[in-house]
Amino acid sequence: MREQNPLSLPVFEDIRDIVEGLGLRAYVVGGYVRDYYLRRPSTDIDVVVVGSGIEVAKALGKRLKTKVSVFKTFGTAMLHDREGREIEFVGARKESYSPDSRKPAVEEGTIEDDQLRRDFTINALAWSLNSDTYGELLDSFGGMADLESCIIRTPTDPDVTFSDDPLRMIRGIRFATQLGFDLAPETFDAIVRNAERIKIVSQERIATELHKIVASPVPSIGFELLSLTGLLPYIFPELEALKGVEVKYGKAHKDNFVHTLKVLDNVAKKSDNLWLRWAALLHDIAKPRTKAFDSRVGWSFHGHEVVGSKMVPDIFRRLRLPLNEKMKYVRKLVFLHLRPIILSEDEVTDSAVRRLLFEAGDDVEDLMTLCEADITSGIDAKVQRYLRNFALVRVKMHEIEEKDRVRNFQPPITGEIIMQTYGLAPCAQVGEIKAIIKEAILDGEIPNEYDAAYALMERIAAKKGLQKV
Ligand code: ATP
Ligand code: MG
Repeated sequence: MREQNPLSLPVFEDIRDIVEGLGLRAYVVGGYVRDYYLRRPSTDIDVVVVGSGIEVAKALGKRLKTKVSVFKTFGTAMLHDREGREIEFVGARKESYSPDSRKPAVEEGTIEDDQLRRDFTINALAWSLNSDTYGELLDSFGGMADLESCIIRTPTDPDVTFSDDPLRMIRGIRFATQLGFDLAPETFDAIVRNAERIKIVSQERIATELHKIVASPVPSIGFELLSLTGLLPYIFPELEALKGVEVKYGKAHKDNFVHTLKVLDNVAKKSDNLWLRWAALLHDIAKPRTKAFDSRVGWSFHGHEVVGSKMVPDIFRRLRLPLNEKMKYVRKLVFLHLRPIILSEDEVTDSAVRRLLFEAGDDVEDLMTLCEADITSGIDAKVQRYLRNFALVRVKMHEIEEKDRVRNFQPPITGEIIMQTYGLAPCAQVGEIKAIIKEAILDGEIPNEYDAAYALMERIAAKKGLQKV
């Protein structure tokens, strides 16, 4: 436990003064208290008031001279303190659920009622904000013991907790992943029994949790747990389909689920880029669809990078991930993820490197990170050889980029210039000339410079019998 007084923030003293004046009781509860003991940074603070949370928030807003956002239907109110922390106020609640909805019937309750409706014991810890008990910890459900032994456990019957709000099953797995905790056996078993109920939860809420799993230090823990509990087929069937090993005539392919999670963890060690991690999770997603067996060559997944990149928009749409440039980035990395490997298998030619730089643009470093992470072969010598070749590819990439600047390049001769020079209207011929110039630059036949490109344009035009105007 930390020595420093947990309630040392000035805003806690403001709240104390206000609730004493109003004759109410208030508590800090949930994530902020948990994260204090775990020494994790935490910016949002939840305050439970026995009585009206909105009333206390309004009084605090007046005192801090700041705007209060009131959400009347939820009985909550939110404001920012002097240092910009988000503080949410809510009245202590007692909840009861009906079986086919996750919208509870809510009534006023005691602080214990409110702690009991929380998802996990470690999220049900509370500090008193009243003068007589200021800073005292209320731990009615053994949250402190669970924090110390790194356990995720529900404060009440887990079947009730999960059935009431099935999202809590994924939240539990998310906390286990983020914090490196274990699910209590009875909590795990209850997830298995209630997995199907995840169907009633909105995709947006699930996506928020999936992001937090992907952003965790060792994200594989979360996906392993989602699979072991039987949740994964409901929320991410394509990932579940990667599981398993098939053997034919003594030839086996690797378990692509295990492999994918390894790649994801490898990327997570190198980068905090959330979307690069998503690309790792999806890089082999089309392997089940492209799997084939040939008695001479064994198993193949021909074209899985192409099919996989085409699956990305659909998966993003279904999971309610953004359909913007983030999706395009993931789709591109999935599409290109084999290229550096193929490149390093052959002799590394300038023109192959130039093409890769052109296609990957600014994302080429991320692509290399993904590719290096993708090398999970058990044979050490093979891994070392690949990594050496990659080092060579990187050196070549830097050389060529210095020399030719092809990353994100636009050919120096535009369609506009071609049309003006030869008096052409927009037509296929213009596109053709442009494409030949681009290819010549990528192949290294001419340098990526205006004069050289102009001269090539003149040669092509002469062959086509075009006259300058
Ligand atoms: P983080 O902010 O890292 O996601 P957190 O624990 O603060 O973690 P929030 O979603 O901010 O999570 O919720 C704040 C608190 O509200 C939680 O600590 C928990 O006590 C409670 N809570 C949140 N969601 C649920 C839920 N679905 N069921 C029960 N209690 C919940
Ligand atoms: Mg929080």
